[in-house]
Amino acid sequence: RSGRSAALRARMEERLLGARFRYLNQQLYTGSSRDAARLFRTDPAAFHLYHRGFERQVQRWPERPVQRIVRYLRRRPASLVVADFGCGDCTLAASVKNQVHCFDLVPLSPRVTVCDMAKVPLAAESVDVAVFCLALMGTNLQEILGEANRVLKLGGTLMVAEVASRFEDTHAFLKAMTQLGFKTVSKDFSSSYFYLLEFAKTGPARPGPAPGLRLRPCLYKRR
Ligand code: SAH
Repeated sequence: RSGRSAALRARMEERLLGARFRYLNQQLYTGSSRDAARLFRTDPAAFHLYHRGFERQVQRWPERPVQRIVRYLRRRPASLVVADFGCGDCTLAASVKNQVHCFDLVPLSPRVTVCDMAKVPLAAESVDVAVFCLALMGTNLQEILGEANRVLKLGGTLMVAEVASRFEDTHAFLKAMTQLGFKTVSKDFSSSYFYLLEFAKTGPARPGPAPGLRLRPCLYKRR
């Protein structure tokens, strides 16, 4: 009997955790990156809860997108300097020989530089590869990608792995990216879970609205 009530309590806790994760996740996708920074600065426990929920979601996928980016980097020279925007637990940095600058709102690892990804402490044109792996979360996408453009060298690589269902119109998205100073090098739509996009920096971002840049919030279903 006490076994049954313990199981019931565990199930309730699990549900509550799931609900809080979905709520936090929704806040991250519907506010700006600055709102996210404020949220986690004032409530670090929320961040750890978010990450537990994130891990649980991604474990259900047949492949982790970050592993694709690891494989991509291993095929290229280890001398390339990388910036990982929204690095999470720094799986990328831990899996390659490259120098990797890791940015996130809260440090899950000592490698992390805590900052809002819309404003990272790197000099202009100082990195070869910028990575956003499931990390294009704020509503100020243009500002965030503009920051990646700023720190990338001319001809440098931008890698984006993002949840497939977030794209409303991939054609419009890629077109908007050209305005931000990125040309498409390759696009992989083969996974039904996430898209993998590779861009090269062609020049600085051009100012002005880029309406095609919109991504839908990634709202997880209740399970
Ligand atoms: N790239 C990692 C983690 C993805 S989860 C992986 O693929 O495993 C998305 C990460 O982006 C989270 O760790 C979240 O804290 C971070 N993030 C969200 N908004 C951010 C912001 N404004 N600045 C920095 N990091 C942010």
